[in-house]
Amino acid sequence: MTTSPKPDPSPRAAGGLVVAVDGPSSSGKSTVGAEAARRLRYRFCDTGLLYRAVAWLALERGIAPADVPALLPLAAEVVLVADARGRLRHVEADGRDVTHEVRGADVDRAVSDYSKVPELRAALVPRQRDLAGEGGIIMAGRDIGTVILPDADVKIYLSASAEERARRRAVQRGTVDETEADRILDELRRRDSIDSSRETAPLRIASDAVVIRTDGNSFEQTVGAVVQAIRAAEGAARVR
Ligand code: C5P
Repeated sequence: MTTSPKPDPSPRAAGGLVVAVDGPSSSGKSTVGAEAARRLRYRFCDTGLLYRAVAWLALERGIAPADVPALLPLAAEVVLVADARGRLRHVEADGRDVTHEVRGADVDRAVSDYSKVPELRAALVPRQRDLAGEGGIIMAGRDIGTVILPDADVKIYLSASAEERARRRAVQRGTVDETEADRILDELRRRDSIDSSRETAPLRIASDAVVIRTDGNSFEQTVGAVVQAIRAAEGAARVR
């Protein structure tokens, strides 16, 4: 007797879900999102890299945020690059990988002044939406669930106190110096304030987002919570 293969009813078979992960600076979106994507075999996109790379190029070339005609073409020069697992965690500009450079303190200081420019944001919207089109993706940023992918299947908002986020960033940078740690906290608060108060696509919790508070969580606990939220949505999609 021959049996024909059963159609796979999983949402993955149809490309997988579209997942938005938003949150403030250093809330873990990128590391947690990338690890959750690895476990679920989803693609991952860190949209902050787009804004960081544009800001980095603008600083290199002496272009101010207000110089919109000079700023806009930079968006087309920035390319996200996938690793072997399809995770878009690297960025090229000026024909080389600048992932390390765009995470530097100069870009940290300047990026929010560039990313609040409405014309720049508008130029980056279709690029982000195109990436999500096929599904099976976790996309991390500030406005993914609210503006870029308002119909995302799952929306997650990662939150943590400014102190906790500054502490994580200091550890990442290997900083033991207290003055430097204070500087990181001030910088983080400044960036939060610009990102949350800008007119276009401010950082907001989408009304239908699952909020995961990560203060006191281990990395593993937060990844587990994100994976669980996505699996629950996959299960719900299967029975729909
Ligand atoms: O996520 P990350 O901290 O790398 O983002 C750097 C900056 O890029 C943010 O502070 C914010 O100004 C901007 N950004 C944004 N919208 C996104 C992702 C990042 O405005 N979707």
